[in-house]
Amino acid sequence: MENSFVLPGDVVGSAEEFIPGDCTYVKGGVIYATTAGLLNIDEKNKQASVIPKTNAPAKLCQGDIVVGEVIDMKESLVIVSLAFKKGYEDRPISDEEATIHISNVRNSYVKDLRQMFSVRDILKAKIVDEKQLRLSTGDEDLGVIKAYCNRCLTGLVKKDGKLVCPSCANTETRKMSSYYGLGVV
Ligand SMILES: [Zn+2]
Repeated sequence: MENSFVLPGDVVGSAEEFIPGDCTYVKGGVIYATTAGLLNIDEKNKQASVIPKTNAPAKLCQGDIVVGEVIDMKESLVIVSLAFKKGYEDRPISDEEATIHISNVRNSYVKDLRQMFSVRDILKAKIVDEKQLRLSTGDEDLGVIKAYCNRCLTGLVKKDGKLVCPSCANTETRKMSSYYGLGVV
């Protein structure tokens, strides 16, 4: 029964066994779902509840494509705040922070991570380790999809393989996705 999908009126458990939780009601000793969603049995608290479909967090698995924002940079690690999983744009995600190790940035050696990413960059990446939430941007379609000028915060424009600031003419480099600036994921 755990993690099964239920519809309004479906039996989710017995009131003898479980406490009715969110999105459920009890009638004649039986707990029913009031909404469509995922059944959630909390064994510890003996509670049966239903997570409405649209609020059920999208599970993150190896190979999934995610989009997020660079929030911090370490010497060999990029910290990414995840926004959504591709194909599940309207759903929240359960874990919100992931990392990209310098060895997973591209298919060739990276000497300086700061030539590849910058805080505030929006990037597209693939999950390579779902437990520790490690990401890779090695593939051509992966990497930065939107970046901002480090001097004046204007959105950078792709020009001859480089990123140029249309406002102050500053040029910067990134590990860019082939989708950079296209507004599509
Ligand atoms: Zn600028």
